[in-house]
Amino acid sequence: MTVTSDKTSSLSSFQATQARLETAIDTLGYSQEMFELLKEPIRVITVRIPVRMDNGKTQVFTGFRSQHNDAVGPTKGGVRFHPSVSEDEVKSLSLWMSLKCGIADLPYGGGKGGIICDPRQMSFRELEQLSRGYVRMISQIVGPTKDIPAPDVYTNSQIMAWMMDEYSRIREFDSPGFITGKPLMLGGSHGRETATAKGVLVCIEEAVSVLNKKIENARVIIQGFGNAGSYIAKFLYDKGAAVVGISDVLGALYNPDGLSIPDLSDQRDSFGMVTNQFKNTITNEELLEKECDILIPAAISNQITARNADCIQAKVVVEAANGPTTPEATDILTKKDVLLIPDVLASSGGVIVSYFEWVQNNQGYYWSEEEVEQNLHRKMVQSFHKVHETSTRYKTDMRTASYIAGTRKMAEAALFRGWV
Ligand code: GLU
Repeated sequence: MTVTSDKTSSLSSFQATQARLETAIDTLGYSQEMFELLKEPIRVITVRIPVRMDNGKTQVFTGFRSQHNDAVGPTKGGVRFHPSVSEDEVKSLSLWMSLKCGIADLPYGGGKGGIICDPRQMSFRELEQLSRGYVRMISQIVGPTKDIPAPDVYTNSQIMAWMMDEYSRIREFDSPGFITGKPLMLGGSHGRETATAKGVLVCIEEAVSVLNKKIENARVIIQGFGNAGSYIAKFLYDKGAAVVGISDVLGALYNPDGLSIPDLSDQRDSFGMVTNQFKNTITNEELLEKECDILIPAAISNQITARNADCIQAKVVVEAANGPTTPEATDILTKKDVLLIPDVLASSGGVIVSYFEWVQNNQGYYWSEEEVEQNLHRKMVQSFHKVHETSTRYKTDMRTASYIAGTRKMAEAALFRGWV
């Protein structure tokens, strides 16, 4: 059977997600009722969070939490702080989290949250008040056995610590399992900070071996030099790849002979900016079209679109960010025979180690760094081959295959529970 994704052209991101989900559900032979159940989150809440700002005035922020489906277990997923957060985006991201958890075989459904704000314009104190206020507003629908938040765009372990503290005060007992991505001394896990990058690395290793190629001397471009991008650059550089291009929000650096990643990492500031220290920069758009073997979008969504997909020269595209390639661009890359490793597979290292963190919190017994690394590696290898084999079996692209592989467990769980 050949599965195509032509239903996805010119739709909003959430509608495109739903269309691909419908294809996956049809392909697996489930009923239309199953699609009706899974096409929308079971619960989405909008909250208004008043924060007394440093100037003495109250500013009211809008936040969301979306729980896609809890047939498999509690919902799980990050909270992002960004000016462009919207309900539609949070809904899509929660559905993608369900797929990530399904592919990695974690005992969770997907969740996601966000607050419309610009954390770069806020003080430490304002951010703390916002984080605590958000937890107070969502506290009734989250918890270690209900919905477990984590870091995402512009949120970090300090924000997780404030959120955990607020939740523990509300519940009146210490609740480390309420949230993951915490600092180590508050029940965080070894390896959580580098988990997304390590997961991306395993996907690249498996992809190049499927293609009979090698990482050594492969030319790599990485868009984004934040937490994921900078660690991916370091790990690939250490493996002998030539990292020929990197970027941040201000611009990009390209050198066909390879960049010195250790030097760039040293020069990077705490917001991940580094290109502002160089004269001969190019734009992010120009970087994506430069010659390379492997392109890794590790920044924000909608970077590879119908406008530039034809100009992409890479043979392998690995999505370390959520949603960097539009549905139309996915189709163009597939026609060009580019191996696209989709976000719900490539970026799943973060939630996998979050799961390990939650297990450790529940047991009160903490793993060594080696144990975390070995278990992450094993899960990522299994996940890659699950999606790759699905794509071969159904003769479809890796993105549609990831939807098929990611949907099966939650659909089966819904059937066993008698929901469909
Ligand atoms: N925000 C990350 C993601 O999109 C991590 C989620 C988690 O650790 O629960 O996968």
